[in-house]
Amino acid sequence: MDKDILVTRSSMPSFNEYCDEIKDLWQSRWLTNNGSKHQQLIEQLKKYLGVKNLDLVVNGHAALELSLAALGLKGEVITTPFTFISTTHAIVRNGLTPVFCDVKPDDFTMDPEKIEELITERTCAIMPVHVYGNVCDVKAIQQIADKHHLKVIYDAAHAFGETCQGQGVMNYGDASCISFHATKVFHTIEGGAVCTKDPDLIRKISLLKDFGIESPEDVELVGANAKMNEFCAAMGLCNLRHVDQEIQKRKSVAERYRSHLSHVPGLQLNVLQTGVQSNYAYFPVIVDPETFGMNRDELFEVLSTHHIHARKYFYPISSECACYRDRYDSSLTPVALMLSRRVLTLPLYADLALEDVDFICDVILHARDAYKR
Ligand SMILES: *Cc1c(COP(=O)(O)O)cnc(C)c1O
Repeated sequence: MDKDILVTRSSMPSFNEYCDEIKDLWQSRWLTNNGSKHQQLIEQLKKYLGVKNLDLVVNGHAALELSLAALGLKGEVITTPFTFISTTHAIVRNGLTPVFCDVKPDDFTMDPEKIEELITERTCAIMPVHVYGNVCDVKAIQQIADKHHLKVIYDAAHAFGETCQGQGVMNYGDASCISFHATKVFHTIEGGAVCTKDPDLIRKISLLKDFGIESPEDVELVGANAKMNEFCAAMGLCNLRHVDQEIQKRKSVAERYRSHLSHVPGLQLNVLQTGVQSNYAYFPVIVDPETFGMNRDELFEVLSTHHIHARKYFYPISSECACYRDRYDSSLTPVALMLSRRVLTLPLYADLALEDVDFICDVILHARDAYKR
């Protein structure tokens, strides 16, 4: 096969649907600053995600940064190094200190049993990540937070639309931050949102994303500019109409992968969490070099030669990145470190043909022979 299979491909509405959605912007000339698309998208997302309060921002990273800022935190934040670098940066850029907690080997989320030993008198919050859409042990984390009076801010960038025991996942913690980046299950090209039960917190977020401007003649907070514009909100309105169908298609792709790979010695697939309605955001595979017969990097190379572009996601872990590694010892989170050296996320998007999945799996199953040649 000569065509390239990319790790992801953005979902899009038809050209005409998007044009219809943005047409009235040529009349109104209201292009940003809480316009009508923005307001509609907030209302529709609140309903879809089953949350009380939600505000839109320019990207998922801003959602994280502004949530930490709005909570007025100081000191140390216990977080995971097995994440996209945004999580760690958001903490550091607020003048806070990340303290890395190891993750569980089965679902890759923060290990609650390792949190308490990291708590000091400087700890102010916990920032876990619903990695690949795997829902964290929210109950255990909340118990620890309550006991030690800590805030919990979820990086829920991967968890759009998921439910756990019938409840929207965005309801956990003091705040949940979502990303609507073009590569995510639901997107607004660039975009993000903060969800919270606390109406005061959402008010602060809406001030902080607009320079802290309270009224034309009053500035209440030292804010940033992190507003979502009308063209992005319009993309969101279109994509939201199709997202359930897109998730169904992702599910078929994920199930096809499972049908080929679930019993291959040396390949660990993502857990199927009980009670969780997944969004099938990613298809991670953990390659055990001993049992599988080749390591992750070698498998990555074999796939590349067949024009299949998998992703080493997450590699390296945050504490190993150039900007942080002088300050951290990554061997203190051995599970995260091991996973980062063994993980590969395989191509997954709604329109990935099932025949392409068959081909990818074929390449994986014959990888060792191909590598020897
Ligand atoms: C995508 C992502 C972010 C950042 O979101 P952007 O919208 O790209 O700013 C943060 N955390 C995780 C885990 C992500 O996957």
